[in-house]
Amino acid sequence: MTETTIAGAMLYDGSGSEGFRADVTIRAGRIASVNPANGSLPAGSIDARGLALAPGFIDAHTHDDLVAITRPAMTPKITQGVTTVVVGNCGISAGAGCADGDFLPDPMVLLGAPAAFRYATFAAYAAAVDAAAPATNVAALVGHTALRARHLDRLDRDASVAERDAMRADLADALAAGAFGFSTGLAYANAIHASTGEVMAVAAALRGTSGVYCTHLRSEGAGIGAAIDEAVAIARHAAAPLVVSHLKCAGAPQHGRSGAILEQLEQAAGTHPVGCDCYPYTASSSTLDLGQVVPETPIMITWSDAEPTQAGRMLDAIAADWGVALLEAARRLQPAGAVYHCMAGADVDRILAHRLTMVGSDGLPCDPRPHPRLWGSFPRVIAHYVRERGLLSLPEAIRKMTGLTADRLGLVDRGYVRVGMAADLVLFDPARIADHARYDDPAQPAVGVLGVWVNGVATLDRNGVTGARGGRMLRRPESRNVFNEKDR
Ligand SMILES: [Zn+2]
Repeated sequence: MTETTIAGAMLYDGSGSEGFRADVTIRAGRIASVNPANGSLPAGSIDARGLALAPGFIDAHTHDDLVAITRPAMTPKITQGVTTVVVGNCGISAGAGCADGDFLPDPMVLLGAPAAFRYATFAAYAAAVDAAAPATNVAALVGHTALRARHLDRLDRDASVAERDAMRADLADALAAGAFGFSTGLAYANAIHASTGEVMAVAAALRGTSGVYCTHLRSEGAGIGAAIDEAVAIARHAAAPLVVSHLKCAGAPQHGRSGAILEQLEQAAGTHPVGCDCYPYTASSSTLDLGQVVPETPIMITWSDAEPTQAGRMLDAIAADWGVALLEAARRLQPAGAVYHCMAGADVDRILAHRLTMVGSDGLPCDPRPHPRLWGSFPRVIAHYVRERGLLSLPEAIRKMTGLTADRLGLVDRGYVRVGMAADLVLFDPARIADHARYDDPAQPAVGVLGVWVNGVATLDRNGVTGARGGRMLRRPESRNVFNEKDR
């Protein structure tokens, strides 16, 4: 039986504890031993002295549903040290719903072309991921907007009782087939007409399971306080842990509200399991939303079906060229993608540093000019927020990328370097790890990641990606997740 020993690295085990020098042996896809390093290199071991070893990073928030199948090398993630991606966020998913491929409500296009949506059930999607053998593991949520597209004839209205029942039944089937929870994207036009009652009725399928409720809030602007209250009420109704997706204070009028918003989350967390994720950037990205087109938010157009030659340009420059108002220019570009420079650095700092916050990239893998978070989020947290600015300690940053996320999502045998856990590991140089993706040059791999193992498979080494792929579809275990146990 082959085994690998990674010897002498400073081990950060995912719990937030200080590192210690250790020899870690992996065998048959699991961590077989963790011993304090004694200074000598065991025969045949990998010399990792001077480097940091951590649980493979878990990307808490992705839209990799379909690229995990169509581009299974998952290069933007593996090069950051990410070994598991959570897909199905923001109400959009490929795992159930929209199997006919001809009607893709916004923003489902973020996941892929219509023809790629071919999975009528969650079980069929899960089987396709396993068959594709992606480089990372995949844990999937089921999206509310995807369910709406399947069961409603039009999305500018609330669902009927029968439609709610049908969506809840689909979600229950997916949960039984291994889905980790339910997501909504209530700010988007195709979900905003869903009442709180509709979402509660569907989310009720989470009761008695370990599934989580993840939500792109109904408002990230002026209405964010009420939107958080709604999210907490839905999670309580569903008896499910709450994850607020990509928490931010979007738009100049909201800057500085992060302290009050985090306090609101803290309050709710006192009586219910509550958390959030965020990415380490002050710009957001999605499809081009006319509601966010305001003069004080600089907007870069990343793609436009109507005006392809404008991709990569700033919206205000396009509007000036055309001699029209910003909103009119945005209308002419639709459908389109955008990067919105809408956040204040101090808010991002406060949210990222908060004890409830996990790191999630929200990377958009199908965007031809993706926000740099797709290729850079995890190394950027360490390079910029730990090493350069000291906002976080390295053990705490790693916890936000590993153990905290595994606990929150119910990934019971991942997120920690402990004997018996899955051998998902990342080896990196803490002095050199850095993101190289930039807004004007976003598809740049990070540097300083020197080893990645996924279920024990060496997926990246000092020469780069190996081509071996060890990922699999993760299925929610029947046991309740640790936050259910601890927090009630
Ligand atoms: Zn979102």
